Amino acid sequence: MATGAASSTQLRFWGVRGSIPVPGPDTLRYGGNTTCVEVRADGEIIVLDAGTGIRALGATLEKEFSGEPIKISLLITHVHWDHIQGFPFFLPSYNDKNQVRIYGYDGADAGLRDILIGQMATPFFPVRLDDLPGRITIKKLDKYEFRIGKVRVEAKVMNHPGVCVGYRLNTSGGSIAFLPDAEPYDNYKLHAPHHRLLSPEQTRARAEKARKELVDFLRGCDVLILDAQYTDEEYRSHIGWGHGSLSTAVTLARDAEVKRLVLFHHDPTHNDDMIDKMASVAQSTAKNAGESLVVEPAREGDEIILNGAPPRRSASLTIGKNNPR
Ligand SMILES: [Zn+2]
Ligand SMILES: [Zn+2]
Repeated sequence: MATGAASSTQLRFWGVRGSIPVPGPDTLRYGGNTTCVEVRADGEIIVLDAGTGIRALGATLEKEFSGEPIKISLLITHVHWDHIQGFPFFLPSYNDKNQVRIYGYDGADAGLRDILIGQMATPFFPVRLDDLPGRITIKKLDKYEFRIGKVRVEAKVMNHPGVCVGYRLNTSGGSIAFLPDAEPYDNYKLHAPHHRLLSPEQTRARAEKARKELVDFLRGCDVLILDAQYTDEEYRSHIGWGHGSLSTAVTLARDAEVKRLVLFHHDPTHNDDMIDKMASVAQSTAKNAGESLVVEPAREGDEIILNGAPPRRSASLTIGKNNPR
């Protein structure tokens, strides 16, 4: 993938799975790696999360730059293992010419830096993070809006156990929102312990306010990569696990007037055929509502181009009314 020109933004999926990697014959088409998305925009290389997909991204970057320095910004949504476990295998971190800037928020019980160091500490890994040759900096975020070069980044806390954010990247080619782990706000109380003493009415009011703020955060964005781990039926028995369902994903995208919804964080028990079925259900839901919303499942290796026109990709599974192919 070439470095994005000023007007073109490129997005590539390197890991689309939630919870744990599931390689094997049942996941060949959509991929078995955990969360990692690469964005090239306005001269920047921005990586979203460091699940196992980041290993292949790192090897590809090293090959592409063939010894030339690489500058990478890695945004971490949260430190659940499926979002950080690939980092020890990220090849650019092992080259002293490269600069890797890691951004994220402190976890619920420990700082971001301590957590990233901890997963590479003895006896878990043979190389300590501080001993990596690459120029690695860890930037603890305390604001919800900042810039990476010309890209304006916004962040918002999600309804998910612990501390978890979603990011919105506003680039010259278009906007991308990345919400890999997010439960609908109907069950807001579950992940807001200090609100547990609220009455049902108060909880409902807070949930409605939080959802409205989320809709505003996502308003009009070109591509929304969103947690849609469960079918609606599965979700009913996974309330409080911190993940979304098909219909809540479609409804949120519709309410926020998103152009393209990418179903993400596939459940490790869902094989390729199951993801096909789930995508079909979500696409029908959008179509039946008369929406022009494009809905598709995230697939490892797929690329989306944004250049001011409707976002497009090479092998689309979409059936939206305004299909941009
Ligand atoms: Zn996750
Ligand atoms: Zn999580």
